[in-house]
Amino acid sequence: MQDFILEENKKLKEKFLWRNVCSLEKSLCHEIILNGKKYINFSSNDYLGYAHHPEVIEKAREALSCYGSGGRSSRLISGTIELHSELEFKLAQFKRTEKCLVFPTGFMANLGVISSLLGQGDAILMDRLNHASLIDAARLAGCRIFIYDHSSVSSLEKVLERTKSYQKRLVVTDSIFSMDGDLAPLKEIVELCKKNKVWLMLDDAHATGLLGENGIGAAEHFGLLGEIEIVIGTLSKALGSQGGFVCGSEDLISYLVNRARPFIYTTALAPASCAAAIQALSLIRKEEWKRKKVLKLSFDLQKELERRFLDSGNFRKSESQIVPFIVGSEEKSLKLANALKEKGIFAPAIRPPTVPNNESRLRFSLTSEHEEEDLKKLIVCLEENLKQ
Ligand SMILES: *Cc1c(COP(=O)(O)O)cnc(C)c1O
Repeated sequence: MQDFILEENKKLKEKFLWRNVCSLEKSLCHEIILNGKKYINFSSNDYLGYAHHPEVIEKAREALSCYGSGGRSSRLISGTIELHSELEFKLAQFKRTEKCLVFPTGFMANLGVISSLLGQGDAILMDRLNHASLIDAARLAGCRIFIYDHSSVSSLEKVLERTKSYQKRLVVTDSIFSMDGDLAPLKEIVELCKKNKVWLMLDDAHATGLLGENGIGAAEHFGLLGEIEIVIGTLSKALGSQGGFVCGSEDLISYLVNRARPFIYTTALAPASCAAAIQALSLIRKEEWKRKKVLKLSFDLQKELERRFLDSGNFRKSESQIVPFIVGSEEKSLKLANALKEKGIFAPAIRPPTVPNNESRLRFSLTSEHEEEDLKKLIVCLEENLKQ
């Protein structure tokens, strides 16, 4: 085993695919401190700054005092407290679905839903760029996996045609794709699913709190509220907390309570995480300006990037707060990330297998705490480094 590990580690390093965790001394949403140095942070999913919002922290603190720090038990034994029920009620209300179920992480929500709904003899139909947790969930389920081309309605249509003989089928897509920031063509996908009488599962992790008039997510953005059978979200991004959830019909949620092993055989979400998410949810309703600001920052940044880097092929259009900057090789993207770091900008390189080969990139996450000044600094640094 030891030899195997050493050999694998060596290979990763040679291919510029080695990954490290770096621990920060301080991490605000748009600003971090690492080895005593301050950086503008373009890598946070705390899109609305709620992980540090005083009201969110206060509610989490109250929950800590009242219920203690840990989850203590499975939700089905004695782990469920009023805060779980309140959070699930409010999330269902927010997403305009009948019911909601909270999991300890979004990853586990995906594992729980897919592995309990599908098994041998069933088929899952997935976008090529779906999140890793969806792929792992499909593998765990043991169903047949069919991949359609990224955001291609005609490719999905063909796969739907080919899979008619399967007992059960489920179409699964991200709403905002994590590494590209583009949106799935949801209107067309919903239409196709309805025509084929197949359920759709939407992973709305990055869109929750950001898209739509009320920040409900991609379903609201596309005018599809109530049209999607299963909607997944995370508490760990715009909600500034920790945890995942699934929204759907009352029947679906009761089924999951009884069948989803990542719900049954794990400890309940910690009380402070519940309380923080409840507070963030109420702020989302009030602070519309924040989501508007994030999206404006993204479009402003893209305008500048397009003007300067369209010809060099670095620019790729995004429709959300996530802006990719395509570099190509692993080595080049690492070098660029390091050069930005020298200048006080933190935007780590994203490499395979997270993105396809030769599409290594930097990925800029915009948050409501960034300012136009931060964008200017980023653009100047990119230009300096790419034009030499
Ligand atoms: C982040 C993310 C998840 C996982 O959520 P966690 O709560 O961090 O486990 C699932 N799906 C997508 C699309 C994500 O971006």
